[in-house]
Amino acid sequence: MKNWKDNLRTIEPYVPGEQPDLPDMVKLNTNENPYPPSEKVVKAIKEFNTDSLRLYPDPSSGALADAIAQNYNVDKNQVFVGVGSDDVLAIAFMTFFNSNKPVLFPNITYSFYNVWAELFGIPYIRPELDKNFQINAKDYYQENGGVIIANPNAPTGVCQDIGFLRDIIEHNLDVVVIIDEAYIDFSGKSALSLTKEYDNVLIIQTCSKSRSLAGMRIGYAMGNKELIEAMDNVRFSFNSYPMTRLSVAAGVAAIQDKEYFIETTRKIIATREWTKKELRRLGFIFADSETNFIFATHQSVNASVIFNRLKEKHIFVRHFNTPGINNYLRISIGTQEEMKYFISELEKIVLYP
Ligand SMILES: *Cc1c(COP(=O)(O)O)cnc(C)c1O
Repeated sequence: MKNWKDNLRTIEPYVPGEQPDLPDMVKLNTNENPYPPSEKVVKAIKEFNTDSLRLYPDPSSGALADAIAQNYNVDKNQVFVGVGSDDVLAIAFMTFFNSNKPVLFPNITYSFYNVWAELFGIPYIRPELDKNFQINAKDYYQENGGVIIANPNAPTGVCQDIGFLRDIIEHNLDVVVIIDEAYIDFSGKSALSLTKEYDNVLIIQTCSKSRSLAGMRIGYAMGNKELIEAMDNVRFSFNSYPMTRLSVAAGVAAIQDKEYFIETTRKIIATREWTKKELRRLGFIFADSETNFIFATHQSVNASVIFNRLKEKHIFVRHFNTPGINNYLRISIGTQEEMKYFISELEKIVLYP
């Protein structure tokens, strides 16, 4: 009898953007930072004591939790560190979404949320965004087993203000409300202060985008210490030593170099605003983005045509084959130079599709 297949856990996985490796490529498809990590990160890695790799790392990544706590002015026991925010989010789903009632998140959002819900057997409802990609707060007044909102939302780029989130939280005091702030440093509207008012609010951020460390895999959550403790208990039932010693060293240096972080974030925001003007000039339509990407559709040229023509030029953007958004492209913001090249090639495509 060969019945082992009957007992497989089958799941349709999340599909990340492709990671091509061409020397001349312009990579605008996975919202990575176009600027290298801080010099302080480079130094920390170069001076890293490799002998220490013999030893297991600190289970709670204390040095990194400390640096994060200092930077955001919270207590160390209000910080949870993980292997990218995907890891932190997965653990948060497992820890907080244990009700028979459905978890709520928008129908267009980070497409990993429904994958974790499926993996963990969590029921969920995805209220529609309106035609301008706005969340309707009233959809989140219904009974539920938890709420997760990406703010700014992905892949739309739309950011809600704190008052809007506060309203959703006020209607959901009996469940955990997670705010995924992967792109918040490009908007400046963090809801972190709400964690001081509401003990059921968890903020999740990452070093992957605004701190140029996607390859290091560092994410973190902040919230009241009972939430963090509950996540720790789940984490330590799974893997005692999630963060490597090297990623802790790099993460501490990245968090501490505020100056470089501010400088690179400002540059990306300036380039984003320049790119918005150029895209409008070329006939693109998009909701206003407060992230390091723009989610745009063209008035006449089909998104998949543009996607393929750009790819021929080794310019990679993201195209989702999802109903409702399949005529959109998600364009990450590169350096000013990369975006100039991108716009010049895009101009040829929309003129002669
Ligand atoms: C990129 C992204 C993440 C995950 O980032 P990590 O690299 O795992 O930290 C989480 N949420 C959203 C909305 C993202 O776009």
